Amino acid sequence: MAVPEPPFLEQANPGVRGLAPYEPGKPIEALRREYGVEEVIKLASNENPLGPSPRASEAAAAAVQEGHRYPDGNGFELRHAIAERHGIDPQRVTLGNGSNDVLALVAQTFLGPGRCAVFSAHAFAVYPIVTQAVGAEARVVPALAADHPAQPRGHDLEAMAAATDDTVQVVFVANPNNPTGTWVGAEALRRFLDAVPARTLAVVDEAYFEYAVEEADYPDASRWLDDYPNLIVTRSFSKVHGLGGLRAGYALSHPAVAELMNRVRQPFNCSGPAQAAAAASLADAEHLERSVALNTEQRALLRRGLEELGFVPLPSAGNFLTFDAGARAAELNEGLLRSGVIVRPVDAYDLPGHLRVSVGTPTENRTFLAALSRQLHGGAA
Ligand SMILES: *Cc1c(COP(=O)(O)O)cnc(C)c1O
Repeated sequence: MAVPEPPFLEQANPGVRGLAPYEPGKPIEALRREYGVEEVIKLASNENPLGPSPRASEAAAAAVQEGHRYPDGNGFELRHAIAERHGIDPQRVTLGNGSNDVLALVAQTFLGPGRCAVFSAHAFAVYPIVTQAVGAEARVVPALAADHPAQPRGHDLEAMAAATDDTVQVVFVANPNNPTGTWVGAEALRRFLDAVPARTLAVVDEAYFEYAVEEADYPDASRWLDDYPNLIVTRSFSKVHGLGGLRAGYALSHPAVAELMNRVRQPFNCSGPAQAAAAASLADAEHLERSVALNTEQRALLRRGLEELGFVPLPSAGNFLTFDAGARAAELNEGLLRSGVIVRPVDAYDLPGHLRVSVGTPTENRTFLAALSRQLHGGAA
């Protein structure tokens, strides 16, 4: 290709120039377009297969009627609902356009050229993106071994603590992590937070918090904000709340951290419908319980089904399972797509040959397992 590079390209920030864009799960419409399949099952983005709470949908629809009005830039009602839920002061809450947005706010506020962020190998893709976008250095800590007895490929908190000296501004911990599903227990996380320098911000990303009901020692880090002024806990409305399409998430932190992040936050980052839906969803405990119960039950069935097909999924406290599909991974994925099933290859997370499948409805999970079995053992797709 002899097309010359336009001269303005080199004006892009160096971090942005070197960035590989985030690759989202394939949308349902894209599969219909590209493969001509009608019936599509999407198990690629860890969405709640039951959808949002009906109360959240109603609240969002009502807010759309006021769509000509700017949303409350301070998110008063939602911030107060979140604060009440956590038993903390609303001054500690920063709203985001999804929690990815608050992760970006952390980077904009505390990272930049000459600064450094620490995170684990196989960690959530947004950490390297927001770090590199602002020109900061990423210090990637090797994960636990693939044959670790408890948390294969999980965060090695001791190694992460050792890497977090006081030249590090931010350390990211995903608990549980996506795409591995692995998690860290209360004692280990506290030991880690004790070891992090007081001037380094420790982000604990709890996007899948609600799903971790079977892990007895799984911690709620939001209860430790008084103990660790440098702690930032992030939560999302995209996963168990089923509001990924509306975009709402938040950070809990020291009020001074929230105040700093609110300086760079776009004042209307969280839309009116998103704020209304999120607040309504927080109040619908029943929908959340039903969603979590379905996930716990179906995740176990999905795991057993994968094991029967000869795979060994990583332990998962989330609403997804990741497994090594071996040398045939790309071919299996392609076959699944042709059968109308979208899962997520996670090669980009330094997990070559691994596929991540979200826990769907009973029918979706059965259809996925049947399609995978057909791919493995031959037969019509
Ligand atoms: C999905 C996810 C998020 C949140 O995404 P938003 O939709 O932006 O709220 C954050 N962290 C992890 C680890 C995730 O998997």
